[in-house]
Amino acid sequence: MLKGLVSIFLDFPCSLCQRPASKTVCDYCEQQLKACQLKNYQHLQRSQSASSSGCLCNASESRRSDVPIFVWGRYDGNVKQAIAAMKYNRLPDLGLMLGEWLGETWQDSGLELKTSEIAVVPIPLHPKKLKQRGFNQAQKIAEGFCSVTGYALESKILCRIKQGQAMFNLNPSQRKNNITNAFAVGKIPQSKGKKSKLVLLIDDIYTTGATVQEAAKVLEQKGIKVVGAAIVATPQP
Ligand SMILES: [Zn+2]
Repeated sequence: MLKGLVSIFLDFPCSLCQRPASKTVCDYCEQQLKACQLKNYQHLQRSQSASSSGCLCNASESRRSDVPIFVWGRYDGNVKQAIAAMKYNRLPDLGLMLGEWLGETWQDSGLELKTSEIAVVPIPLHPKKLKQRGFNQAQKIAEGFCSVTGYALESKILCRIKQGQAMFNLNPSQRKNNITNAFAVGKIPQSKGKKSKLVLLIDDIYTTGATVQEAAKVLEQKGIKVVGAAIVATPQP
């Protein structure tokens, strides 16, 4: 009886369905979300020619983008709902949770990138948008991801200098134009070791790859190597 009461008080409403939950989402919603998770072997391939810097390569995605992509799940159904709820109902904890799942899958994948070599860089929002939303969803995902992987979070390396339109209404060439010149390189942390850090980009959704591509281009122009991008979800190919 007492135990039952205590557990009622410790439960919060699930962020997605409002049922009591001991975590960000209830067990039912977690199960529904995890049903959208891609199998590693479907969406991740270790490059045959992987150098010591540890290139992540994904054969199916690399046709769309030169930047190797690591994706957690399919962008539909519950995952689509969760990402929308995070952004538009202002639920940053959902971002942390998805980032943790992305990190766990990353670790299970056996990609061997040394913790000390990687700087995790979330795709930034324009300051105006950030003020409007209250948080950057990619930042929250990156925080969850780093809490699991132990990589360093470096949010100031990349900044957004052009706001552009929301991407979901745009076709691929409009997306590309919309994102061109949207980023600039900000503060580069001084590397303690001899080797400069390798950047792993983080974002919530991967569609045409225009955003990741543009961010990588801007970083590489400043001599910062981008090893890939870890993304929560992508629409079914
Ligand atoms: Zn729920």
